[in-house]
Amino acid sequence: MHDRINIAIDGHSSCGKSTLAKKLAKELKYVYVDSGAMYRAVTLYCIQNGIINDAYAFNEDAVIESLSSINISFNYNKVAGDSDTYLNGIRVEDQIRELVVSRNVSAVSKIRKVRERLVHFQQKLGKNKGVVMDGRDIGTVVFPDAKLKIFMTADVDIRAQRRFEELSGKGHSITLEEIKENLISRDFQDSTRIENPLRKAEDAIELDNSYLTREQQLIQVKSWAVDRIAK
Ligand code: C5P
Repeated sequence: MHDRINIAIDGHSSCGKSTLAKKLAKELKYVYVDSGAMYRAVTLYCIQNGIINDAYAFNEDAVIESLSSINISFNYNKVAGDSDTYLNGIRVEDQIRELVVSRNVSAVSKIRKVRERLVHFQQKLGKNKGVVMDGRDIGTVVFPDAKLKIFMTADVDIRAQRRFEELSGKGHSITLEEIKENLISRDFQDSTRIENPLRKAEDAIELDNSYLTREQQLIQVKSWAVDRIAK
């Protein structure tokens, strides 16, 4: 039996990181962790508690103070066959995907104390290895020693279209333009922030999935994983 490894999947917004990471984790019988859901849950808490109404004008100290009242957990959902995000014991899996959260999350995730707290939690989850985690700084900061690091990207119009289909399929009323605008804005904020900006780790393999099916992507990353696990 080979030792388990941690796998870091970073990349631009909405390029299918979590879909791929989930499938890969299932194939390898690893645990999937959605680090973006944690930043989204903190943002949702701040919106619900009146700390944030507008990404460009809120009190960062109040966000930091709220961290001690926030408990994030993941619980297995038998029906969906994967895990759901819980905020203080309440399932928020759908709410954290709403546009109001997407519009504010990058402003929250640039706060150093927020990152410190969540990175610490993420590192704890990966302590025993066997984790596939997706996000923006997993290969650079959370698991700098991960044996496999993947950096995903795709054409922005293709990403927006995919996200549009996914969200409208779930009944969210949102336009393609709103989605595209949000993706561009988040990518810009995430890659230009001071704390742990989104960037490709030097030892990450780039995967542009603009013209790859989900199956093709899975075959590719699985072969990389099998290779790294065997080494
Ligand atoms: O992955 P997802 O798109 O759900 O992430 C939402 C936001 O959370 C990102 O746009 C980014 O601002 C933040 N994030 C982050 N670091 C991570 C994961 C997500 O800053 N590791």
